[in-house]
Amino acid sequence: MLAEVLQVSCKKRIGKDDFIASIRKTLQAHYKDKSVGRFTLMFKALGGTFLLKESKAKQHIMPEFSKVPLNSDEDVENWLRFYDMSPPLIAVGTLVSHDPGLDLRVQHFHSFSHHGEGGHYHNDTQPDIAEYLGYFALGEFIYRLDKPSETHLIGRD
Ligand SMILES: [Zn+2]
Repeated sequence: MLAEVLQVSCKKRIGKDDFIASIRKTLQAHYKDKSVGRFTLMFKALGGTFLLKESKAKQHIMPEFSKVPLNSDEDVENWLRFYDMSPPLIAVGTLVSHDPGLDLRVQHFHSFSHHGEGGHYHNDTQPDIAEYLGYFALGEFIYRLDKPSETHLIGRD
């Protein structure tokens, strides 16, 4: 059986958004008109992989779990360890066009490499030379398990 995938290939970042946020916001902008009362039309979920061929990337790794509560994005950023990692980086993850009220994380990609670097992808750091090649499959259903009764938006990027 053949599966249809989206191939996304691009060079040189011209805005502030990272590769995944750019795809996500493009989907959101395109499908927003079909959103009223039609959940299946409004919501797009992609899963897949991308290669960051050129440009270093800002990524984080997690240290040990924090012994104190992290109450703000600033707390989270002070706890995480950020690095400027070298290409090529291979990332896997998911994105959704937007959160339709299910308390989703709208994008999340982790990378690895063959030179010992990897982490949670935030963005390339050399936009002029940044080059990506991605392959994504389109989700057909979404199942939300264990939606938190209380939520927050800290540490979602
Ligand atoms: Zn992560």
